[in-house]
Amino acid sequence: MNGCVFCKIIKKEIPAKIVYEDEEILGFCDANPQSPVHILIVPKKHIEDLTKIDEGDLALMGKIFGAIKKIAEEKHLESGFRVVINTKESAGQSVFHIHFHLMSGRNFHWPPG
Ligand code: AMP
Ligand code: ZN
Repeated sequence: MNGCVFCKIIKKEIPAKIVYEDEEILGFCDANPQSPVHILIVPKKHIEDLTKIDEGDLALMGKIFGAIKKIAEEKHLESGFRVVINTKESAGQSVFHIHFHLMSGRNFHWPPG
């Protein structure tokens, strides 16, 4: 998608610290980490947000959870982690290419605020 920063990372047009890649999914470090481990997992397909996934995207969403599990194992996050999908501006979404925040390495509050 034209102008999408995550599509540019996926196409390797701008740099990122990539920690996971397969045919359909990319995982890379957040440029402005909010926890010691803060990784973004994105589908290579441009989907604006969670409200835009369709039936055909459900298997891909499942694969993303599989990728998150693998990354969590590799990074030894067994003591705990949080996965967040901010959806729309009011929920804190600032990049409109669906992404899963994988955060770990500190304690998290609930409710998140
Ligand atoms: P959200 O606010 O949920 O849309 O999350 C977007 C995230 O993308 C933020 O945590 C940003 O720090 C991160 N981000 C924005 N641009 C980049 C980039 N070029 N490389 C890595 N992370 C980025
Ligand atoms: Zn995109």
